[in-house]
Amino acid sequence: MSRDGLEIAQIPVLQDNYLFLIHDPQSGETAIIDPAVEEDTVAALEARGWTPTHIFNTHHHWDHVGANLALKERHGLTIIGPAADRERIPGIDVAVGEGDKVHLGGIAADVIFVPGHTSGHIAYHFADDAALFCGDTLFAMGCGRLFEGTPDEMWSSLTKLMALPDETAVYCAHEYTMANGKFALTVDPENIDLQARMREVEDLRARDLPTVPTSIGIEKATNPFLRPMSESLQDIVGLVGAPLPAVFAEVRKRKDNF
Ligand code: ZN
Ligand code: FE
Repeated sequence: MSRDGLEIAQIPVLQDNYLFLIHDPQSGETAIIDPAVEEDTVAALEARGWTPTHIFNTHHHWDHVGANLALKERHGLTIIGPAADRERIPGIDVAVGEGDKVHLGGIAADVIFVPGHTSGHIAYHFADDAALFCGDTLFAMGCGRLFEGTPDEMWSSLTKLMALPDETAVYCAHEYTMANGKFALTVDPENIDLQARMREVEDLRARDLPTVPTSIGIEKATNPFLRPMSESLQDIVGLVGAPLPAVFAEVRKRKDNF
């Protein structure tokens, strides 16, 4: 059975955030993923003639839930968010966790529990549309800071995302790619995929174009946080043969001090 796929609009807001509007052309339903701010969201919806029916939140930080209540008041929409963070998601109606499915019209997404950046963080995977909305868990050549989780938790969260198909488009919530890439080159300098990716990123940013979305395949090849199994990376951080979470933890620590 064929159907039109999910339509996705990527809206840059604040300093370096992206929020996303996703639209099911069949049902007309539209969700806002992580609405940081009201005005830009409303303008982007109006420009497309889309009336929002849902908000999908990935985690509780203000730059992801800031406009929840205002948009709910304006549109009476349904707010879906992480069950583990129920108390910290303004206006939440439906609390979801690992293995749950959420729907936008006839389009389904799997909820993946990815703690680490925050203790309740979730991601939304639209398998039929090969799209992942992962908030501040996985970035292009980077990953979220560990505000509320341990390196072991974050590594296991990232492992779940790495298991998705390579062609999965990764819609991360920040344009941090240039800074991430500069750090990546310090721990993985011989990686030719990373070198090539950095040239692309420099070119895109010089023209003020986004580097998001990325893909699971690109990240597995170029993101040092997904490459603790690399022998040359292990060598550079002085942890040859160490357990992968320990190598990941060291890379994360170095990035925090970069
Ligand atoms: Zn965050
Ligand atoms: Fe954020």
